[in-house]
Amino acid sequence: MGPQAQTARECVLITGASRGIGRTIADRLIADGMHVINFDKIAPKESAGHENFYGVDVSNQTELRSALLEVASKYSITRLVNNAGIVRPATIENTSIEDFYAVMNVNVAAAIICVQELLPAMKAAHFGRIVNISSRAALGKEERVAYATSKAGLLGLTRTLALELAADGITVNAVGPGPIATELFQSANPPGALATQRILDSVPLGRIGQPEEVAHIVASLLDERAGFTTGQVVYVCGGMTVGLHH
Ligand code: NAP
Repeated sequence: MGPQAQTARECVLITGASRGIGRTIADRLIADGMHVINFDKIAPKESAGHENFYGVDVSNQTELRSALLEVASKYSITRLVNNAGIVRPATIENTSIEDFYAVMNVNVAAAIICVQELLPAMKAAHFGRIVNISSRAALGKEERVAYATSKAGLLGLTRTLALELAADGITVNAVGPGPIATELFQSANPPGALATQRILDSVPLGRIGQPEEVAHIVASLLDERAGFTTGQVVYVCGGMTVGLHH
């Protein structure tokens, strides 16, 4: 396909949009009238159309850059959601440097590469919206040495890019989810289990968040009208990052 692949809808690239929070963000943005480019390892089970799936392992720099070059030549992509993320739960004693690099590759390096390759189109349009999906773990969480470090790294990246790209009309923000009811979360934390109850007890709003509630904040930060907000992090955490709650 040549440049005729360009759709009338505005294009957004989302990494990891086949499952979980990324899928819900994709569904929401498609419903809002956008065209989604989804970079994930496996295709989504369902899609409402207005979406192109690319089988990409974002931890593989060569594969990621070549897929980005391909989509950048077909579509004018001025919105990016760096969502793909992995967790390798471990304490400091049990964190191998291999695990650390694996987490940093997906959670941080892939985000940097996506920005680098999409930047020319955003600069040419003098418009861009970048949202990095961080986590409340960026503020510290036991047994998440690699993960928390990567998610805190994304916040530094967000603020640095916000400053570097402001003159080009590009805003860069982060969203920090707390516990969100994805399939994965629910299978690891079954309703009624003691550990699940402990998590619920730590959330001032007294419940787990829904992926749609994350998608709503992402959608608003991607909106053209959000142009005066940059370098910020919005925690979608039911209040659990606000002081202590008993
Ligand atoms: P998820 O259900 O595991 O979904 C992540 C998606 O990214 C999956 O489709 C996954 O594909 C894909 N992915 C992972 N590694 C990839 C790679 N190397 N290349 C391409 N795609 C890859 O996770 P989620 O819970 O929706 O999390 C989404 C984001 O929110 C992550 O950044 C996560 O850290 C963050 N977050 C989630 C929560 C929560 O409670 N769920 C809380 C805080 C932050 P496979 O399934 O095939 O691996």
